[in-house]
Amino acid sequence: MSDEFSRQIIGSDNISQSDSSIRSLKDIIEQDSGDKFQGSQDQQDSGLVEKLPFPFLAIVGQVEMKYSLLLALINPAIGGVLLVGPRGTGKTTAIRGLVDLVPEIPRSLCYYGCLPEDIETGGIDAVCPNCARKFAMGEPLAALDKIRLVELPLNARIEDVVGVVDDNITGHDRLRLHRGILAHADHNLLLVDEVNLLADEVVDSILDAAAYGSYTVRRGATSATFRSRFVLIGTMNPEEGRLRPQIMDRFGLRIVVKGLIETNQRLEAYKRVQAYLANPRQVMLKYSDETKIAQTEVQMARDILPNVKIPENVTNLALDLIHQLNIDSLRAEVTLFEAARAFAALDGRLEVNNEDLHIIAPMALRMRRSTFIEKYLTEQALEEEEIRKTVNHTLV
Ligand SMILES: [Zn+2]
Repeated sequence: MSDEFSRQIIGSDNISQSDSSIRSLKDIIEQDSGDKFQGSQDQQDSGLVEKLPFPFLAIVGQVEMKYSLLLALINPAIGGVLLVGPRGTGKTTAIRGLVDLVPEIPRSLCYYGCLPEDIETGGIDAVCPNCARKFAMGEPLAALDKIRLVELPLNARIEDVVGVVDDNITGHDRLRLHRGILAHADHNLLLVDEVNLLADEVVDSILDAAAYGSYTVRRGATSATFRSRFVLIGTMNPEEGRLRPQIMDRFGLRIVVKGLIETNQRLEAYKRVQAYLANPRQVMLKYSDETKIAQTEVQMARDILPNVKIPENVTNLALDLIHQLNIDSLRAEVTLFEAARAFAALDGRLEVNNEDLHIIAPMALRMRRSTFIEKYLTEQALEEEEIRKTVNHTLV
């Protein structure tokens, strides 16, 4: 982390303990989550946080949840985050608090989301005719813009999600298509509260778009393809219903969000929430310096991410871990490696180490094993054995 960051943090009234050990955003998260800083379980999901979000850094405890959300800002390749926990544990509050920490990215200036990188990978036909013309003229296809938080309402209909063809508009086919939430989510975070309560067709369309990075709307002879490369952030309360296993598998990091246990943390959280409810602006102001620094650190982490490497010995350890845990899904490796790289970047390093694996592995690997598949394979092995024995015995 930068010296300037260290100085500012050390100079802050908000941190009185072990100031000298603070050297990165990783440190600020761990320190701020202690009994000096907080937010609370109790304030989250209250709806009161919508207009002026409760500061992300003011949330007490929940270090793993905070890490996972920051990693999602730094590296979209982690494949999304699922926060699992009962109501009132701060899941939604934390997600909405990200709005002050988001980095800037090149944003397409085109309705269809075309980017210069599309031409690099797919040639000139990979962008729309208008962007192909702009590219040929040397005009920019994108401009820097902050990542946005796009929320999917729980009652969203499939046409809200993918978009519709408007029969009342005449003219070029493409002009008759209204973009859906998925197209608006391109290069942004897509927040899906209570993902286990969504209609199956809505969830399926989100997962398809997430898998391919684009989707096509068709109506008769009219069709258009929209870019839709987003990081999916979902929450679910397991008391209110299960999530289909194939959907669960699509989330990279899985965080179990529990209520605070220690009395002093709970008390601190309560005080923070009361202060926020009484004067949200004042609480935001109190955290504004740290928030600004954290935002810079996230941007820096995102910038250095392409240069972060995983040494071979660390790769082997990670693969061994997955093997020993009997995890089949290949998404486990992708998420573990990509999240570990993002975590090293967050700590200002260009190389992943074993300690990163210690912190990331539980988030990337939990809820990956399928008890159904394990039981199925065991039964299958027993049947094979029985067939083999019978064949050997009968066909001598
Ligand atoms: Zn275009």
